[in-house]
Amino acid sequence: MKHSFEGIPLLQIKDLKFYFKFHSFERSKYLDQKFMEYLQYRPSFEPNPLEKKAREDYWSLGREKRIVDGEDYTYQQEEVLVKAVDGLNITVHENESISIIGETGSGKSSLLFSIMNFHLPHLSHKKGEINYISRNTKTPVNLLSLSEQQMEQYRGIHLGFIPQLPKESLNPWLKIGFQTGEVLFEKLSVRQEKIKERVLEFLGKVVLPDPKINYNKYVDKLSGGEAQRVCIAMALLADPRIILADEPLSALDTIIQANVIHLLLTLKKELKSSYVFATHNLGVAGQLGDTIAVMYGGEIVEVRSKEKFFEEPLHPYSKGLLNSAPWYAVKHGLELEEIPGELPKPHEWPSGCKFHPRCPSAMAMCQNKKPPRMQMNGSLIECFLYS
Ligand code: SF4
Repeated sequence: MKHSFEGIPLLQIKDLKFYFKFHSFERSKYLDQKFMEYLQYRPSFEPNPLEKKAREDYWSLGREKRIVDGEDYTYQQEEVLVKAVDGLNITVHENESISIIGETGSGKSSLLFSIMNFHLPHLSHKKGEINYISRNTKTPVNLLSLSEQQMEQYRGIHLGFIPQLPKESLNPWLKIGFQTGEVLFEKLSVRQEKIKERVLEFLGKVVLPDPKINYNKYVDKLSGGEAQRVCIAMALLADPRIILADEPLSALDTIIQANVIHLLLTLKKELKSSYVFATHNLGVAGQLGDTIAVMYGGEIVEVRSKEKFFEEPLHPYSKGLLNSAPWYAVKHGLELEEIPGELPKPHEWPSGCKFHPRCPSAMAMCQNKKPPRMQMNGSLIECFLYS
C-alpha cells in the first residue's frame, strides 16, 4: 500500500491478523501473570484504570465468576479466540513518522507488540506479513516467520521500543546505566568502557539531568519524566531504524509532555530513524507524525499526510475524532460533538463496516459489506462514501 509519504519502504505490513486466545481456568491464571511479566517486565505492575478495565473485559469473555473456599475466582468455560488486529495494511518509509490514532481498545498497542513480535502467550495466531527491509540486504524479512532467537537480533538493533509506562517498564533491580547499555553488551558484544561512554552520551542526548549521577541510580529514584528519558535513550542506543512508541506521553504531566515531544522531534532530525507512535491524543499525533493513520476495530481506515488530515479528514470516524477534541473545536470555532455509542469489543465487532452502528453517514450496504480500500490523491481510505 502506498500513501502520500514518498520514500524507501522499511516496513510493510500486509493483511495482518492477530488474536487474543483464552484457555482453561488454571492456565488462564498462569497466562495472566505471564502476560504482565512480559508486558511490563515485572510482575508487580499495576495497570492504569482504563487498561485494567479493558483487561477485565477481555478476560471476562466466556467466563463466569465462582466462589471457591470463600475466594472469588474466574472460571473459563471454553477457549475463545478474539481478533485484536483484523487484516491491517500499512507501510512505514525511511525517515517517516506515522502517528496511529484511535480510541483505547482500537488495537494500537497490539499492532506495536505484533511488530516487535513479542511472544505474549495469549496474543497468538498471527497471520499475514510484517516485512522488514534491511539496510544491508534490501531483502524483505517477514518478522512473523522468525524464531524467538532470530527475532531477538532485530529487537533493540533494528527495532526500538518506547513503552507506555516508563517507571514500571524499567527493571527495579538494575542500575539505570547498566540496563540502558544491556542491548550493546548482549547483542552487539561492545566492550564495557565503550558501552559506558555511549550510554552517558545518550543519557545526555535525552537531556537527563546529571547523567553520571543517574547512571548509578535505580529507577525508584527517578521521576516519571526522567524514567521516560531513560526509556527513550535505551530505545535509541543501538541506532535502530524504526522506533515504535506506545503512548509515550500518557504517563507524564503536561509540562513534561511538551519537553518529551521537543526531545523526540530533535532526536528524529538528528538520528534519522523512522517512528511509529501509537496515541489516542490527536494533538500529540499531529506534533509527532508526518502521516496520520486512523485505526478502528483492528483495521487502518484512513492514512493521510498530517496537513491534509487536520485540514480535511475523510473518514467519518476521523471527523468524529477531530470534532470531539476540545482543542480542535476551539481552534475551528466548532461545537464539541461526541461520537455516538461505544467502540465495540473485539468479540462484538459488527458485520460490514465496523463503524456503521456509530456512523452518521451509514448507508444500507454498510451493514453487510466491507468497504474496499482505496487510494485518493496519495491518501488511503476505507469507506463507501468514496468508492
Ligand atoms: S463505510 Fe458506511 S458506515 Fe462505514 S464509515 Fe463509510 S459511510 Fe460510515
